[in-house]
Amino acid sequence: MHYEIVVVGGGAGGLELAARLGRRLGRRRGPEAVLLIDRLVFHIWKPTLHEVAAGTLDTHQEGLSYPLLARRNHFSFTLGDVTGLDLNARRLTLAETRDRDGETVIPERAVSFDRLVLAVGCGSNEFGTPGVEHASVLEGAEDAERFHMRLLAAFTRASFAAAEPLRVAIVGGGATGVELAAELIEAKTEFEQGLAADQRFRLEIAVVEAADRILGALPERISARAQQALERKGVRVLTGAKVAAVAKNGLATSVGEVPADLIVWAAGVKAAEANRDFGLEVNRLNQFVVDTRLQTSAPGVYALGDCAACPWEEGRLTPARAQAAHQQADYLARALIAAMRERPTEATFRYRDFGSLVSLGAGRGVGSLMGGLGGPNFFVEGLVAKAMYMSLHLDHHRAILGTARTAVLAVARLLQERVSGRLKLH
Ligand SMILES: Cc1cc2nc3c(=O)[nH]c(=O)nc-3n(C[C@H](O)[C@H](O)[C@H](O)COP(=O)(O)OP(=O)(O)OC[C@H]3O[C@@H](n4cnc5c(N)ncnc54)[C@H](O)[C@@H]3O)c2cc1C
Repeated sequence: MHYEIVVVGGGAGGLELAARLGRRLGRRRGPEAVLLIDRLVFHIWKPTLHEVAAGTLDTHQEGLSYPLLARRNHFSFTLGDVTGLDLNARRLTLAETRDRDGETVIPERAVSFDRLVLAVGCGSNEFGTPGVEHASVLEGAEDAERFHMRLLAAFTRASFAAAEPLRVAIVGGGATGVELAAELIEAKTEFEQGLAADQRFRLEIAVVEAADRILGALPERISARAQQALERKGVRVLTGAKVAAVAKNGLATSVGEVPADLIVWAAGVKAAEANRDFGLEVNRLNQFVVDTRLQTSAPGVYALGDCAACPWEEGRLTPARAQAAHQQADYLARALIAAMRERPTEATFRYRDFGSLVSLGAGRGVGSLMGGLGGPNFFVEGLVAKAMYMSLHLDHHRAILGTARTAVLAVARLLQERVSGRLKLH
């Protein structure tokens, strides 16, 4: 199989890029113009994974199938895990796909390309911590669903042993850890509805952060507000607490032991070790080093999103955020379309920080919005911040589904929630 442009990874950045390229190139040039490869058959917007983990978002409703998105946006899709890249032959290797019984579904195969975009995202950074295998991670939809099943079992167990609290430790006080803590409280409230009074139980959540404040990448005022909001909900926020080891029943930290029945590792980001085998320059976090045109060390091979180490300002790299992946997809779509029409653009990519928003459960959020060049920054919180936070998700859906379908989907989900409740119990 040969394609003009191959995008590997249909996440926040890769899927938006494939959809834009498909609409502009695929329609006229045919199905060999743009190919998207992903190791899963459906797409979930990663910033919602904490909701999937808590059970307040159902992957079966939220997940969008890639073949359907491909048809609507005029790109081709193939299921596969990319395991090798031959730069000389301009060819990718896709590993054999097996079903749950170990039977081969698709044999190993190769895909060749003229231009390649790597958008394979990142996982969490475990910093070589001993015992980290006892913690759950939220790197993909499958991890989040696995944690959700553990959470439901733990809720049920706790509801029949109501004298004992259920203890959850979340390692990492970044957006993922903070949002997950808030969402778990909502999930517990929903779970208890309809339970007999003697089945109510205590949920003790600890957010463990090595730095001296949570949400360290955001302004101090946001950290302080988020910490207040979590503490008001009964969450214990431990800052300056470096995790030395993880065990089945808790954490050993620099400020003492943190007992836990469930542990989630949500600290830092690191790309896959396998990225080192692609023959491209990578940094110590295994991210592909790119220039301001998002080109890697090989001509015609690009990287975007979390897996790319892209220069920004003051020697810093573009942050690993959906906002950055979205802007990079937008830039690269324009650059690649111009190159295919043999009118290459001189424009380079420059990340623009529009601010950050953090969800603190249903109806609450906190964040800051950048006021533009030299302008003031606005602090937002409460329902306004939450509405803005939710609008980012809708923007992503608009980029891949269009405005009308996004509106229908949003209304359908609202109605479904009204009828069946927020928490997924099965
Ligand atoms: C719980 C959580 C909350 C977050 N909240 C926010 C937030 O509020 N705001 C924000 O800006 N950012 C947030 N982020 C970060 C944001 O999700 C990422 O920055 C963003 O998803 C990166 O997009 P991406 O396209 O680079 O990668 P991803 O969205 O991670 O997509 C990578 C894709 O590549 C596929 N893939 C990986 N390896 C292979 C392979 N070898 N072969 C084929 N396919 C492969 C994966 O299946 C996946 O579909 C959050 C992250 C998490 C985990």
